[in-house]
Amino acid sequence: MVHEISFYDQVNKNFDRAAEFINKPKDLLEQIKRCNAVYYISFPLKRDDGSIETIEAWRVEHSQHKLPTKGGIRYAPNASQDEVMALAALMSYKCAVVDVPFGGAKGGIKIDRRNYSENELQRLTRRYTVELMRKNFIGPGLDVPAPDFGTGAQEMSWIADTYMTMSTGELNALACVTGKPVPQGGLRGRTEATGRGVFYGVREACDVAADMEALGLSTGLEGKRVVVQGFGNVGSYAAKFLTEEGGAKLIAVAEWNGAIYSESGIDVQALLEYRQSRPDGSILGFPGTETIANSTDALELECDILVPAALENQITEDNAPRIRAKIIAEAANGPVTSKASEMLHDRGVLILPDNYLNAGGVIVSYFEWIKNLSHVRFGRLGRRFDEQTNRRLLDAVTKASGHEFDADEELFLTRGADELALVRSGLEDTMIDAYRQIHGIWSQHRQRGADLRTAAFVCAIEKVALCYEEMGIFP
Ligand code: NAD
Repeated sequence: MVHEISFYDQVNKNFDRAAEFINKPKDLLEQIKRCNAVYYISFPLKRDDGSIETIEAWRVEHSQHKLPTKGGIRYAPNASQDEVMALAALMSYKCAVVDVPFGGAKGGIKIDRRNYSENELQRLTRRYTVELMRKNFIGPGLDVPAPDFGTGAQEMSWIADTYMTMSTGELNALACVTGKPVPQGGLRGRTEATGRGVFYGVREACDVAADMEALGLSTGLEGKRVVVQGFGNVGSYAAKFLTEEGGAKLIAVAEWNGAIYSESGIDVQALLEYRQSRPDGSILGFPGTETIANSTDALELECDILVPAALENQITEDNAPRIRAKIIAEAANGPVTSKASEMLHDRGVLILPDNYLNAGGVIVSYFEWIKNLSHVRFGRLGRRFDEQTNRRLLDAVTKASGHEFDADEELFLTRGADELALVRSGLEDTMIDAYRQIHGIWSQHRQRGADLRTAAFVCAIEKVALCYEEMGIFP
């Protein structure tokens, strides 16, 4: 195994590479790069068997140039301060790339959630929330967590409930966290948002004819062979939309205990149901697939699009020479190390960078936060009015033209937008717009060796720098 630099240093290396394309003062760039606040917590957890375990946790606010800061909470056995700092920094750049008005933050608790009962998880999540409150590291206008690796709507619900219990009368208390269940102030479309955003981003990239030609691929997603690593929230939804809406073919899925492969394609819904039916939650043995015992071997399969959607540091200097994918879609944060990224770029592989591609979660979290602050569901005021207006217009067109619309067409043309439709539309628009921004920057700097990741960093750094300049802190 080749030794590579830490995750946080890698993020900063990518930053420094981008800084070469930016004409800004060094001290301003240094301010942008540094983590503004790092909070380390340890607290006791009483296990169900009566024993006491010391839990280690972190919350890092990387950049408070915009408030609140925003970023998920990860439950993982290898969580560390370095990792949380790296992920918090990525959040700042991600929010800037997709024009979401937040600073970046991240949280982590060092546990393997599979070893804890639901009651234990609830106790430690509530305690973590109290610890965040004690130091003002959570609040609708301060710092707003969300789900990440190893957490989901259930944990967000415990966080919201704890925060509300302890902040009696705070009108906007529900906006202290996003990714909540819908009945508890959550937003329709949030759960699948990151995977859906990955689909929109990959689709945009595959629609650029010149880029596809350079890779020896046809334009469009249809028929492209996809390998996904990590079949959790992000990976499974990315696979679902890439295949069902994009027409791509899922040929392999890698999980922590092995991978499955089928050249004729894997049905995402059937695989989800199969996994749910298994007591150990494994995907191995899914009918019609071969098993690959060593999970990481699946990354080296010949395919058009490789979607790492598990953890960081999966493609390193070590295995990069054996990667045969033409496009790597970084659904996870930091799955390709900075050195591996350089090596793959030199070989002509197109990497769609994490700080753009997996921004769907934070984009839709932003919509959820707005919904909580405005105390009204999206679409509630206008939907029926729009439907009636559309109905009258359609009747007028039918009368004037004599053309009769069939029932499906009528339904489509007259409907008013509900919350889910608005969320999807806002997410799609933001992902398309951001891709065009970073692709434009890439086109300017491509001749000088920049890749798409560098372009995304340039895009982010320039926006954050502008914010500091407007504050009058830097000349
Ligand atoms: P998750 O916990 O829902 O899923 C992770 C999946 O990866 C699980 O199925 C797990 O079994 C699998 N896994 C764990 N170790 C593995 C290994 N060594 N090899 C293959 N598979 C492995 O987590 P998630 O929310 O889908 O997050 C995945 C990645 O996406 C993380 O890097 C996270 O930071 C990033 N991300 C998540 C969100 C979000 O909204 N959840 C947003 C942006 C980025």
